[in-house]
Amino acid sequence: MSLFKIGSLAAKPGEKVSGHIEAMELVDGSRLPIAVTLINGAAEGPTVFVGGGAHGDEINGVRAVIDAVGRIDPARLKGRIVAVPVQNPLAFRARYRLITFNQLDQQNMHRAFPGSPAGDMASRNCHLILNDIVVEAGCDLVIDCHTGSTGSYYPPLVFVSTIGPDEAVRRSLAAARVFNAPFIIAAGGKAGVYAMGSMLHMVAVERGIPAFGCELGTALPAEARHSDLGAAGIRDVLIHLGMIEGEMGPRRTQIELEEIHEVRSERGGICDYLVSPGDEVAKGQAIARVINLFGETVHEAVSPVDGYVTTCTYWGSINQGERLARVARKPRT
Ligand SMILES: [Zn+2]
Repeated sequence: MSLFKIGSLAAKPGEKVSGHIEAMELVDGSRLPIAVTLINGAAEGPTVFVGGGAHGDEINGVRAVIDAVGRIDPARLKGRIVAVPVQNPLAFRARYRLITFNQLDQQNMHRAFPGSPAGDMASRNCHLILNDIVVEAGCDLVIDCHTGSTGSYYPPLVFVSTIGPDEAVRRSLAAARVFNAPFIIAAGGKAGVYAMGSMLHMVAVERGIPAFGCELGTALPAEARHSDLGAAGIRDVLIHLGMIEGEMGPRRTQIELEEIHEVRSERGGICDYLVSPGDEVAKGQAIARVINLFGETVHEAVSPVDGYVTTCTYWGSINQGERLARVARKPRT
């Protein structure tokens, strides 16, 4: 066993070390600190990256990482863990989804992987996470914890890309199932948000590094039931990989879905939902009604497919063209 080093941090075998590594330079000449925990096990085993906070308002994911990593005893760990509970510290400081301090550049870290050391702020941040942490550590698995953004609510689900070397896809799906969320979206190559590319889990799998992400409720309010599910899922995956001892939690029924469809409002107004996140819906079933400010129903949105509601947008009001919901289609049999 050797020293586990990332940036200025180093953990000896059997040791857990936490601190901040320095990222991009800011307007005042300071360097953006990224909190990292390295756990170097006392015995050989896989290396796992566990991250949260790529979007700065998604606290349940941040908390899941902190809680999962906090329970690891390095003396009993086989392998290594590198944890980055907040991958996007600028957005985290602002309690906001995106990097907020530059109106010109691409700001969404979840659309900027693999990133570039010569790119904009999001791109540099992504390059640091992927190149200087995930690749540098030699990770065998990437777990990226998210929630819906403020106003957007997900049932707990995992998302996996199926575009990449067969073995990486197989290992990604196996780990994602072990995570034990009620829903699994295997979306690579199909329609919908998790097939857009430029996301950490997609880029990792394309490069042969098994990976999956999870959605754990919503940004506001932060909810322990969701962060607890995430922390338990991470623990079960570490057991699955043989890195820690223990019994996995009782297995849930899991529903596997594929392409995700957006349901957008054709009118502006106030919206009433007729379904909840996680509900099964049939093609053509009414999902939400939009009323105008005079109380008249002006639009009834329906599900475009047979599937399950994976997101509702709980702003209460809606502009024409904004997303009311997402529905993930059941696989064609
Ligand atoms: Zn997110």
